[in-house]
Formats: sequence, C-alpha cells, structure tokens
Amino acid sequence: MEYEIGDIVRTKKEHPCGSKLWEITRVGVDFKLRCVGCGHLITLERQKALKMITKKVSKEDKEYLKWKEKEGNI
Ligand SMILES: [Zn+2]
Repeated sequence: MEYEIGDIVRTKKEHPCGSKLWEITRVGVDFKLRCVGCGHLITLERQKALKMITKKVSKEDKEYLKWKEKEGNI
C-alpha cells in the first residue's frame, strides 16, 4: 500500500497514551508518525513502519474522530 503525508494509519501496538492511530507526517526512507492521541512524534525506518501499520484509517473513522475530539482545539 502507498502512503501519503496526512494519511491516518492504525498500528498493531498501542501507544502508552492509549491510541493506535497515527498521522503520517513524512514518507520516504524513513516514516515520521505523529500520535493522534498525544502528538508524540516517532521516526521509523520504512520497513519497520510498513510492518507496524495494519491499515489506513479514514478521517471519518469513529475512532479517529473520538481522538480528535479529545485533543480539542485543533
Ligand atoms: Zn500517544
């Protein structure tokens, strides 16, 4: 699957904040992901990122909207 900046993806492992959703902020040799739950940024090698990601999530997805709601002022 191809990923683009701004895509929301779900990962196998849950972040300590409880979210499994990440926004892609960079693609290339390395992927940069921003936790939708807490804003934490991680950089992963492409291969690792692709292994970790289980699926793309729509911005209409209930789980995504729930986290956005929590985040509030964006
Ligand atoms: Zn988090």
